[in-house]
Amino acid sequence: MHLSKKKTLTNQFFAILFTGIIGSSYFLIITKLSALPPNLNYIFTALGVLICFNIYSIFTKKFRNRKKLEKTPFPAPWRKILEEYVHFYRVLSPNEKLRFETEIQIFLHETRITGIKTEIDDVTRVLAAASAEIPVFSFPEWEYENLGEILIYPNAFTKDFKTKGEGRNITGMVGTGVMQGVMILSKPALIGGFKNSKDKKNVGIHEFVHLLDAADGKYDGIPELFMENQYIAPWLDIIHKETEKINKGKSYMNPYGATNRIEFFAVASEYFFEHPHALEKNNPELYKILSIVFKQDTKNKLKTALKSLLNYTGKKIGRNSACPCGSTKKYKKCCLNNNI
Ligand SMILES: [Zn+2]
Ligand SMILES: [Zn+2]
Repeated sequence: MHLSKKKTLTNQFFAILFTGIIGSSYFLIITKLSALPPNLNYIFTALGVLICFNIYSIFTKKFRNRKKLEKTPFPAPWRKILEEYVHFYRVLSPNEKLRFETEIQIFLHETRITGIKTEIDDVTRVLAAASAEIPVFSFPEWEYENLGEILIYPNAFTKDFKTKGEGRNITGMVGTGVMQGVMILSKPALIGGFKNSKDKKNVGIHEFVHLLDAADGKYDGIPELFMENQYIAPWLDIIHKETEKINKGKSYMNPYGATNRIEFFAVASEYFFEHPHALEKNNPELYKILSIVFKQDTKNKLKTALKSLLNYTGKKIGRNSACPCGSTKKYKKCCLNNNI
């Protein structure tokens, strides 16, 4: 989510292209209306210039904002939160820290974080953004396509998003259906995931890794955009072997990883980012392949989403939609207020 030169230039190119197409069609029509009195002609010309200017500024808004954010000092309380909770950040070099901070600023500027029946504070916001940045930190060109909003629940929830009563065992998910593209995280699980950096669990990273898995079009535990073809067979082999070890109780991995390939990739990635040294020691093969996945230079493979370059802000729940908390009130009259 970093502001790269390449992305900014591509954005400008498309903005000029669209403005040019719309502007020239407009002026073509004007000149056809040659019977217009000169006064009106001036007015139409001025109007055309105004329209072109507006189109250009709308298309480049996101990237101009990113540029501004890059120059905005990182809030000191946020830095304190990163230092306190985020091990990944603590071990970065000073320059990398600056880049990580800018990415957090951009992410939080473009992604709405809303508390559903719960208050949202800076710790929640900063940790949600850190979860997004950690897995893609080696890919500054990366954009999470479609994700525009994260809902924070007060607790673990059920499949029907109930936060009270029996059967609450979900701490995070990427929504489907009307919630498509919207991520849901349990607040205590998100914070807890960072507080204990040795437990190999981090629900925030887990959910964002699911998005990386799905970036090639399907959830299948094979992140094709991040994995050269030659690694796919060894990867499937590692999954198979480690799943057997989990089932025999002989693995150091969170047993949830044995659920299926999709969960294996997410769970193994949590382990990789939370406690890389332990992973390297306990399963060097798995460590090595994940290092390749998350650190290889895939710059030329990862296409920056065109939509994102066109100032697309990602999926958000409509202000007038029913509130996800189930209150039957409009979102803007209910939990969306927690944002302010
Ligand atoms: Zn999962
Ligand atoms: Zn509500």
